Amino acid sequence: MRFAVIGAGMAGILSAIKLDQAGLTDFTVYEKGDRVGGTWRENTYPGLACDVPSHLYSYSFALTPEWSHRYSPGPEICGYFDRIARDYDVVRYMRFGEEVTACTYADGRWQLETASGHRDEVDAVIAATGVLHHPRYPDIEGLDSFAGACFHSSRWDHRVNVDGARVGIIGTGSTAVQMVGALTERVGKLTLFQRTAQWVMPQENPPYTDEEKASFRAEPEHLTTLHSNLADAFGIFANAVVDSSSPEIKMIEDACLANLEDNVRDPELREALRPTYRAACKRLIISPNFYDAIQQPNAELVTDSIVRVEPEGVRTRDGRLHELDVLVLATGFKANAFMRPMRITGSRGITLEQAWTPRPVAYLSISIPDFPNFFMLNGPNGPVGNFSLIEVAELQFGYIMQLIDRLQSGGYREISADPAATDALEAERTKAAEKTVWVTGCKSWYLDDRGIPAVWPWPFERFRTEMRAPNFEHFQLR
Ligand code: NAP
Repeated sequence: MRFAVIGAGMAGILSAIKLDQAGLTDFTVYEKGDRVGGTWRENTYPGLACDVPSHLYSYSFALTPEWSHRYSPGPEICGYFDRIARDYDVVRYMRFGEEVTACTYADGRWQLETASGHRDEVDAVIAATGVLHHPRYPDIEGLDSFAGACFHSSRWDHRVNVDGARVGIIGTGSTAVQMVGALTERVGKLTLFQRTAQWVMPQENPPYTDEEKASFRAEPEHLTTLHSNLADAFGIFANAVVDSSSPEIKMIEDACLANLEDNVRDPELREALRPTYRAACKRLIISPNFYDAIQQPNAELVTDSIVRVEPEGVRTRDGRLHELDVLVLATGFKANAFMRPMRITGSRGITLEQAWTPRPVAYLSISIPDFPNFFMLNGPNGPVGNFSLIEVAELQFGYIMQLIDRLQSGGYREISADPAATDALEAERTKAAEKTVWVTGCKSWYLDDRGIPAVWPWPFERFRTEMRAPNFEHFQLR
């Protein structure tokens, strides 16, 4: 079989390594960027880090003793993926600067087209295109009129010098909070425009000592133990968020509340930072330094809503003009875009747009009915909010390999999710979502157009169990 992998981020590198190791070496990884890294290549904002511990946010087969911190910085994470791709010698399968624009299923094969006009024909496609990568720009009057530098957080403009400048940030998600922590000590004035307050979980971020790293190097089984202990600890969080009445979610709420009460001194600021919904309803913010940073003399939290952007800065409802040199839009991503705007046409001429109207659905977030031999990693409705996406992708890839094996051993040409099985799972999923913390009274990118979380609503163990072996009765094989 010939394969195409789309994307050379975390999941695309994983796919390349696993296909290569399985001896399925007839494949190409198409990557629109000029190097590997995905989200870690695209996001370069100051303070970028991963709030999943580094020894967990690693491939299980490529643990490393070298992580600098419990939560290592973004460039180090990007360097890790780059090194693993080279160490496993899979860069040779990659074509950079090739954006796949269309995938069309015809006569039992997928025809691919790229923006440069390159064409390929493959038996199976693995879409490793990521989840949060299409910037969501805010619809604010006058945004284009701003005279200073203005960019989305994921398009950081490094030509702009922020040192000593007046910098405004719109948004208070994980991205903005990481930026605030890193920028206050550099900028002249930092203004954070908050529409909704966030719960913040405190988290220390100690560096690993030379002795610790030496012990990891000397005894690699320490790394394996650490990886599995962190997975167990993270599992507590993963299971808490899917049960809004669990004692664990109460513990998370108490820890966030204590963080606010104990660490924000000024009562007025404390009230401004106090959310009015339950902790972890929005993606929980994990930060070692946000409250400290926002209390610096050169930082200001603005809660009056934004009326418009003017050439000199941001005008808020109280009539104040917040003069700025730089305006950063930390306003998030279009979470339901997934592989789009790629034009994907399955069997019988059905387009992805048709299949995903009114919203994205996939069987176990991997396979879409009528899109044979088209497999997704971290597709719709998966455990994006509750676990390390690396383990999710590894488990999904193991499952996809079993689907491919079945094609090869059974003498079949096509496999795709059965529509009835997909509908039944989706109905069960939306029902289970009613118990989760994501529906307890906040807005977030987890929620679909109906207000139902577009994520995995069960304990992570169920995901592991589902991924162990496909139920082939839930697939159509031809
Ligand atoms: P986000 O969580 O979607 O936050 C967007 C922020 O922008 C929110 O505070 C939102 O306010 C605000 N906003 C949007 N439109 C606005 C407008 N028109 N006016 C004023 N405010 C507006 O985006 P993000 O911070 O980029 O994070 C997205 C996700 O990426 C995270 O949830 C996380 O999954 C991932 N991420 C992970 C890490 C990590 O360490 N692993 C780091 C960064 C990001 P409202 O709350 O009022 O809507």
